[in-house]
Amino acid sequence: MNTVFFDRDGVINEIVMRDGLVSSPRSMEEFRLRHDFISAFQKFSKLAINLFVVSNQPDVSRGLLRPETLTAMTELLQERFEFREVVYCLHDNKDQCLCRKPKPGMLDYLVEKYAVERDKAIFIGDNVNDILAGSAAGIRTIFLRQSHNRLFDCQPDFAVDSLDEILPIIDLA
Ligand SMILES: [Mg+2]
Ligand SMILES: [Zn+2]
Repeated sequence: MNTVFFDRDGVINEIVMRDGLVSSPRSMEEFRLRHDFISAFQKFSKLAINLFVVSNQPDVSRGLLRPETLTAMTELLQERFEFREVVYCLHDNKDQCLCRKPKPGMLDYLVEKYAVERDKAIFIGDNVNDILAGSAAGIRTIFLRQSHNRLFDCQPDFAVDSLDEILPIIDLA
């Protein structure tokens, strides 16, 4: 294993609940890093592996998230974690783009750009669409179980309750 793709919301940072629905941060105040990501990252960064972020951010095209705020979030991540690249889909469903997960477009883009070996990569997400995108790209997946999500109509290779559990998987797989 030499490449790890991370979904962003619900994996790197906490999701935000709005009116009982799962949502994502729209301000820097709402952009809170997950403790288990921070502790797991310290271990990842010692491994010589490619780390990428692959995230749907439809709130941009919905006018709910300012592009400058998203840029500030990315800068915060890059200062602290130095991902090889952070890739977003800014589209909404109606746009019919090729990047919005569950489509594999963002993963395929990074695979080709960085000559990633798909069988040595893994994608970690907290949403069914992450698992479907990884499967469509031929990349193994880890589902991060949380109180706000549940699995249906997809088959991740692994499921965990905390990112603390993924290091042995990455070593093994
Ligand atoms: Mg997510
Ligand atoms: Zn897109």
